[in-house]
Amino acid sequence: MAEGEGKPLMLIVEDDEDIASMLKSYFEMAGYLATTASSGKQALEKAKRACDVILLDVGLPDMDGFSVCRALRGVHACPIIFLTARVEDADAIDGFSAGADDYVTKPFSLEVLAARVRAQLARSQRVRRIEAVRIDDMLSIDYAAMEVSVCGAAVPLARKEYEICAFLSKHAGRVFDRDMIYEQVWGTAGDSSVVTEHVRRLRRALAEAGACKEYIKTVWGVGYTWRS
Ligand code: CA
Repeated sequence: MAEGEGKPLMLIVEDDEDIASMLKSYFEMAGYLATTASSGKQALEKAKRACDVILLDVGLPDMDGFSVCRALRGVHACPIIFLTARVEDADAIDGFSAGADDYVTKPFSLEVLAARVRAQLARSQRVRRIEAVRIDDMLSIDYAAMEVSVCGAAVPLARKEYEICAFLSKHAGRVFDRDMIYEQVWGTAGDSSVVTEHVRRLRRALAEAGACKEYIKTVWGVGYTWRS
């Protein structure tokens, strides 16, 4: 995420070239780093990169904006603002549960849209700030900063070790087998014995940092669970 590290990253999904380039230049002038995508497929491709806010046209040539939004939600938690030309769409968006954060109807004023974008960014920053979770007196996990701390001191973890820790702790009490953990963390099926090794290192890192409780419990013959 780009906050605090420079310009907010914006993805503009719009098949109308004039609107897309107008939005891109407007938001670049306003201090954003903007990328455009002209189809749903391209949007999903470009959304693999980091993103702070997405502007999403409802009427795209290949997919409708709602399906794109649903698919983007699987990748990004960042605010998504629909751009729509039809009043009927506005009604649909209101009742839409797949996670649009706001919408503007075309023709829209750039100032209004910019204000909506700022409001959404401010809101998502607030959400991320409270994402730092105190697990107990000893352990806290900042899911936004991807940092695990024991007694206030950051625990040095490799990326995948952190991701296993985050995944299990977010689903405390549920048991996951190694294959499921592998798929969640690596995003594909693979050699799940790697999980065993990562969990071992993760436990050791937590113990070395002074955590005297075993957070990750082995469920014999099944996998692991986070002790809630
Ligand atoms: Ca369109």
